[in-house]
Amino acid sequence: MRVGIMGGTFDPVHVGHLRTAEEAYEELGLEQVMFIPSSDPPHKPGLVVLEFEHRWRMLQLAIAGNPRFVLSDIERRMPGKSYTVNTLRALRKEFPDRELFFLVGLDAFLEIDTWFRFVEIFRLARIAVLRRPGYGESDLEQVLSRKVFDGYRKDPETGAFVHPEMLPVHYLGNAPLEVSSTRIRQLAAEGRSIRYLVPPEVMGYINEKKLYVNAGGIEERRCQTR
Ligand code: ATP
Repeated sequence: MRVGIMGGTFDPVHVGHLRTAEEAYEELGLEQVMFIPSSDPPHKPGLVVLEFEHRWRMLQLAIAGNPRFVLSDIERRMPGKSYTVNTLRALRKEFPDRELFFLVGLDAFLEIDTWFRFVEIFRLARIAVLRRPGYGESDLEQVLSRKVFDGYRKDPETGAFVHPEMLPVHYLGNAPLEVSSTRIRQLAAEGRSIRYLVPPEVMGYINEKKLYVNAGGIEERRCQTR
């Protein structure tokens, strides 16, 4: 069974996450995509993200009715920072028979060499890199050869990047979507519309709970981490 792992802060979840996960599901022949919100994200220094419960609830609303998508609270249950390598190790243990595909946007992949014990990630799961606007396959190749380690080469038959000791890295063919959580938080803080950038149920939740409403609130939340 092939399972896609979509980790992130999801502050908030948006159509970029959902549509690209749906496309990855089809392209890779996955049996499910598991969304894993981080409880204590290590990659957002100086920025406090919304409480886990709100991000979790928005994910629940966003994936409801899609049997291809499931939600996991594994990072919530693990102590300390939400390091991808620890999550993948735990998933390997929990699901020894499943083939894991770690889905990651190319923007995030470009910095993978800064992630905790990143080399091990390439041994725990296949990595499936999602296209994002403004970046191309050559950026991915540069990361593999300059930042990761020598030895990855493109398999002309499958198009995947293969390595004698590591698992393959795939560059997916999803349509790049120009949407990010940062942009949504900014729009909401300015009182502007976020319609069509998030599912209607998520927009309703954000409006009802008045999340991200004023920029002052966001600044306040940011200060709490420092
Ligand atoms: P922020 O703007 O707060 O940094 P984000 O929109 O990048 O957030 P995250 O929750 O940090 O969202 O991202 C989770 C994963 O989804 C990351 O691997 C990220 O690269 C990927 N991702 C986010 N937005 C898109 C998008 N529009 N298309 C493809 N992948 C995306």
